[in-house]
Amino acid sequence: MANVVVVGAQWGDEGKGKIVDWLSERADVIARFQGGHNAGHTLVIGETVYKLHALPSGVVRGGKLSVIGNGVVLDPWHLVKEIEGIRGQGVEITPETLMIAENTPLILPLHGELDRAREEAANPGAKIGTTGRGIGPAYEDKVGRRSVRVADLGDRATLEARVDRALTHHNALRRGLGIDPIDREALIADLEAISEKILPFAAPVWKVLNEKRKAGKRILFEGAQGALLDIDFGTYPFVTSSNVIAGQAATGVGLGPSAIDYTLGIVKAYTTRVGEGPFPTELTDEDGKRLGERGHEFGTTTGRQRRCGWFDACLVKQTCATSGVNGIALTKLDVLDGFETLKICTGYDLDGTRLDYLPTAADQQARCTPVYEELPGWSQSTEGARSWADLPAEAIKYVRRVEELIECPVALLSTSPERDDTILVTDPFAD
Ligand code: GDP
Repeated sequence: MANVVVVGAQWGDEGKGKIVDWLSERADVIARFQGGHNAGHTLVIGETVYKLHALPSGVVRGGKLSVIGNGVVLDPWHLVKEIEGIRGQGVEITPETLMIAENTPLILPLHGELDRAREEAANPGAKIGTTGRGIGPAYEDKVGRRSVRVADLGDRATLEARVDRALTHHNALRRGLGIDPIDREALIADLEAISEKILPFAAPVWKVLNEKRKAGKRILFEGAQGALLDIDFGTYPFVTSSNVIAGQAATGVGLGPSAIDYTLGIVKAYTTRVGEGPFPTELTDEDGKRLGERGHEFGTTTGRQRRCGWFDACLVKQTCATSGVNGIALTKLDVLDGFETLKICTGYDLDGTRLDYLPTAADQQARCTPVYEELPGWSQSTEGARSWADLPAEAIKYVRRVEELIECPVALLSTSPERDDTILVTDPFAD
């Protein structure tokens, strides 16, 4: 297939970084299409660990074009720091290897301040659990037609007009929240100063990608977060502020939907969630603690401890449907080593009725109790397995049962953070 979309099929942190890196070797272009620098990918290449937040994973591979699409919201100060950090690790980043869509909305410092002020003001049960980086408020401004976009940085008069439009709204909000108004001149000066470092990367990404597509180049669309955090199909309002599902890949860079040839869902062999919100299979007992410890379940971006639970096949079947997933990459199977018994959620019980999907109404979600199926665990290590023959029979049974329940085949199986510790069943880029 020419173009592959990678989406997280749970609540994020599925291990997309490793799989994207693995696939990026086969791609010519790697494009981010949603989210902001709240996404955290960890790439381990040999002895080097790269932590990426805003940059596409392709930047650490030579000879690729990395793209930040218009579906992303971009903090220019953060990006410049991230570029400098990655350059410090010996990676070359130039306008030939990195392009930023000119129509990408910017995250300004006022967005982060608003994010944090709102979270602080919210009652404990109403907190969204945002990363406080201004992503949500920046998307609000995009829809509210008051964003400063990358292209606006090139002209002083336009920049001033855009800033004024944003400030009319934000200063009113800030007054209500008891925060000082924005210093207009300082903001414009800061934007002008950073623009020199951002504008060299600005490009009509939609055009470049359409040309790449015509030339038969392979595009990898790199999703961030997970489908259960999607603004429409996630556990609203405990979601992110953008569409995360595969359809967004086209909108988020400026290609038509027919540009998506294959969608790979990244699925962790158990479930985790960061922050607030419903989580039917959450474990607060020793098993949950063990998953967290064995899986090193701490956020790349925030360091926050992740909530852990059994694999929820019902939810993954749902996200495979909303993203049109063709195959999954099942990650962190090795974390399940040593459990005597494993449970998989196959549906929910809602007031005595069996459901095969998670209902949308929050009160019903809260009353849903998972229906479990039990499978025998395995005592042997699967860590580093690179072929089916390296896996114990029970582990293979577990994987096969996951495929049946989610109605989607495993294309890749990951058994350690190392990129080569992967079992390949189907290459998503293969024709
Ligand atoms: P992302 O947000 O989905 O990109 O998740 P990350 O890339 O941050 O992955 C989460 C963590 O899981 C990272 O520390 C990875 O190195 C690690 N990881 C990825 N795949 C595997 C795997 O198969 N087994 C184990 N044990 N760790 C993995």
